[in-house]
Amino acid sequence: MKTRFAPSPTGYLHIGNVRTALFCDLLAKAKNGHFLLRIEDTDQSRSSTEFADHLQKDLHWLGLEWNEGPYYQSQRQAIYDDYYHRLEKISRAYLCFCTEQQLSIARKVQMASGQPPRYAGTCRHLTAEQIAQKIAQGLKSTWRFSVPEGEVIEFNDFVRGVQTFQSSEIGDFIIRRADGTAPFFFCNAIDDALMEVTHVLRGEDHLTNTPRQLLILKALNLATPTYGHLALIVGSDGSPLSKRHGSRNIQELRESGYIPQGIVNYLARLGHYYTSNDFMDLNQLAAAFSTESLGKAPAHFDAAQMLYWQKQAVANLSKDALWQWLGAEVQALVPAAQRDIFLKTIHSNVTFPANGLHWANVLFVDPVPYAPEALPILQQAGSAFFKTAIDLLPQHKTDFKALAHALQQATGLKGKSLYQPLRIALTGQLDGPEMVNIFELFGVDRIRTRLHHAEKIANK
Ligand code: GLU
Repeated sequence: MKTRFAPSPTGYLHIGNVRTALFCDLLAKAKNGHFLLRIEDTDQSRSSTEFADHLQKDLHWLGLEWNEGPYYQSQRQAIYDDYYHRLEKISRAYLCFCTEQQLSIARKVQMASGQPPRYAGTCRHLTAEQIAQKIAQGLKSTWRFSVPEGEVIEFNDFVRGVQTFQSSEIGDFIIRRADGTAPFFFCNAIDDALMEVTHVLRGEDHLTNTPRQLLILKALNLATPTYGHLALIVGSDGSPLSKRHGSRNIQELRESGYIPQGIVNYLARLGHYYTSNDFMDLNQLAAAFSTESLGKAPAHFDAAQMLYWQKQAVANLSKDALWQWLGAEVQALVPAAQRDIFLKTIHSNVTFPANGLHWANVLFVDPVPYAPEALPILQQAGSAFFKTAIDLLPQHKTDFKALAHALQQATGLKGKSLYQPLRIALTGQLDGPEMVNIFELFGVDRIRTRLHHAEKIANK
């Protein structure tokens, strides 16, 4: 089993092409196979090395490691030229001098008479003299592949089942443009054969390229891979996925603090069914990956689901990884001695590093600002409440449960009216991390400082 990811470096990796890369990696891993990376950069006007480098960085970040490559198609032109000549030698490729204008008129005529537009074969039978003459006139030419008449092209798509095409519906197509460049599907097919790719898994938008690729490979007597075409990803409204559905490219997701394992867990389930809802690493996802579990219907992107897997990913971070992920701004606010207790306190309250920064500010920067809804609650509790809490502090110190219990006895308050003013005094917030941990983190001095502050505010 050898799979490949063959991106064209014409932009940043987005959810759609990363999912394809992931499935190809999982498919290879599931079968102890090989996963190769091929950069399809023959279209020089649209490709850039910046995008090619960037996509590799994104794949590394996601943990999608290829065992072979990267190959760059821009460095393989001599190979493609060789195959053009082989096709020419066996009379399966010919020069076409039709101009864009002539082709467009022919297409219009065909469409007007209700026929599908396809090349009429005008240049197929030019004689050597006619060709020489046209070249002498300086006419530009493309190369066309001559499609056999009356053939049925059939293949068993490992996602969609048997697919059948009639060669009569495929006109002789261009395999080499006038400027000498190749359309993507030509190099793509040649390379899959030469690189011994066994399984091509790609988007359904390539389905109609497959019969043409099979014809080319067959004519050249090259091995054909097995093809599988993935249903596309759509937004909640059923239209192709875009930014407006909450989809962002991988770089944007990384910058906003998404964790690669969360993205991977989400994408693995976007169009592939897993019986387990466990958070899994790539090996576990691969072990349960099967082409039979790939959906045939379009997969709906759901930003809420992606957030769910982000939360799972955060929950699964080790202490060290959590610390790294929170970033320099948070790290600068947290004294080294309190690192572990800080992480324990906030772990279940953060989904993104920005939340961590919020809690670091709340927990370490005095005086703590109060949330707007907090003030009336402090006033309702009254300054005597906080005075009592301060008086009880020397006895109970950082034992939150004991202090709360004693405060309940002393004030007669319980439940929300007991806990909420305490939480607000300590954090300025109505919700947040466990008070038990906050007490441990603060120590008696900071608890007292904040209770004092609340006592003053409640008086106003
Ligand atoms: N370069 C093509 C693309 O990015 C590859 C398609 C394929 O996987 O065969 O769409």
